[in-house]
Amino acid sequence: MSILPEAERPNPYSAYGAHGSVLVLNSGSSSLKYQLVNPVGGEAIAAGTIERIGESGGSSGGIVSHTFAGNRTRRELEVPDHGEALRIALGMFDEIGPRLADAGIYAVGHRVVHGGAEFSGPVVVDDGVVDRIEALVPLAPLHNPANVQGIRVARELLADVPHVAVFDTAFFQQLPAAAYTYAIDREVAAAHDVRRYGFHGTSHQYVAGKVARVLGRRVQDLHTIVLHLGNGASASAVRGGVPVDTSMGLTPLEGLVMGTRSGDVDPAVVFHLARNAGMSIDELDTLLNKRSGMLGLSGVNDFRELRQLIDAGDDGAALAFDVYVHRLKKYVGAYAALLGRVDVVAFTAGVGENDPAVRAAVCEGLEGFGIAVDADRNAARGGERIISPDWTSTLVMVVPTQEELAIARQCVEAVDGRRPAAAVTAG
Ligand code: AMP
Repeated sequence: MSILPEAERPNPYSAYGAHGSVLVLNSGSSSLKYQLVNPVGGEAIAAGTIERIGESGGSSGGIVSHTFAGNRTRRELEVPDHGEALRIALGMFDEIGPRLADAGIYAVGHRVVHGGAEFSGPVVVDDGVVDRIEALVPLAPLHNPANVQGIRVARELLADVPHVAVFDTAFFQQLPAAAYTYAIDREVAAAHDVRRYGFHGTSHQYVAGKVARVLGRRVQDLHTIVLHLGNGASASAVRGGVPVDTSMGLTPLEGLVMGTRSGDVDPAVVFHLARNAGMSIDELDTLLNKRSGMLGLSGVNDFRELRQLIDAGDDGAALAFDVYVHRLKKYVGAYAALLGRVDVVAFTAGVGENDPAVRAAVCEGLEGFGIAVDADRNAARGGERIISPDWTSTLVMVVPTQEELAIARQCVEAVDGRRPAAAVTAG
């Protein structure tokens, strides 16, 4: 894995000039998100979402949205499965633009949630790769099945272009054993691949690299804490471009409080509820993944709605905010200890980029660690920016994540053969 900042690396895109594009696909259980990206310039040429796949019936059918050249087209259509979703997306390119033939697709990039211990970088997809991703379904039963389905359908419909799988876990394959090992019986853990894998790796890697580029520093010289706060949320400690810890574990359930996930709980909560509330494993899975976090505490998982509730005097919403911030502070403190020195705390993703109240609350009281935010800088909007005052030893920054662009660039590297499949997969 390259840890050089982009500016110091040979340009991997020169092979085909500035004319190619990469179609990035993110297949969820009931949704397909797509973006056509220029991997050189970095801009999104067109983007869309197809939601409510598999749900039928009049106004409750699928919702299709396609944005090109600043215009958003929205339709309600029957979308019975992922195959139809991709056909509809391709139809939108034909009808509304840009025509994919004109855009010159260089590769199709698939976001895959779980690469297990097997994939530590992007890989050009062949039948064997699809089988290996499918074999990882037991580790990610909520995510990998849709990813596999998306890859299969896309390879059929876009058979002439290379397809590349880019894994959410790949960046964190570099974690030290002390960070990824759970303190449970070694034989049980080994037999069932139970360890920490980490997720949102594409975003953490991109943001850590972007911080260095924005500051004109070498990523090798920086100790950075990345806080990816979206509906899913995770933290990472990155030393010299290499992750030393991250908050998500075997699955994306561990760690920070999230929109609908609990993050860290005593595992005995599960035994307790199974024994005393008679809840099944599936009910507990749903409870912790879909009915917990901000939603479970306050009734809403969107921070814009949470703010309205807090302003209206809702105690549950205020407590949810406090729980969220408390957990984040603990991770910042823990990662400061692991890194020994923190040069940058970088906020990213939906909440991290857009909610100044969360950023201010997380950094409040951390002056002793050299961490603080300046109220005016924190309130300002924009792209990459420093929001700490001039006197702090640690820079606090907002760095918008660009996962699709990062995926697109990894696709180009994989297709160009800079990371042949054999070199990026271990076993
Ligand atoms: P993501 O998963 O990165 O797309 O983030 C989605 C989440 O970001 C939403 O559920 C909201 O909680 C949060 N979010 C998006 N826009 C804003 C905003 N303007 N202010 C506060 N939170 C926001």
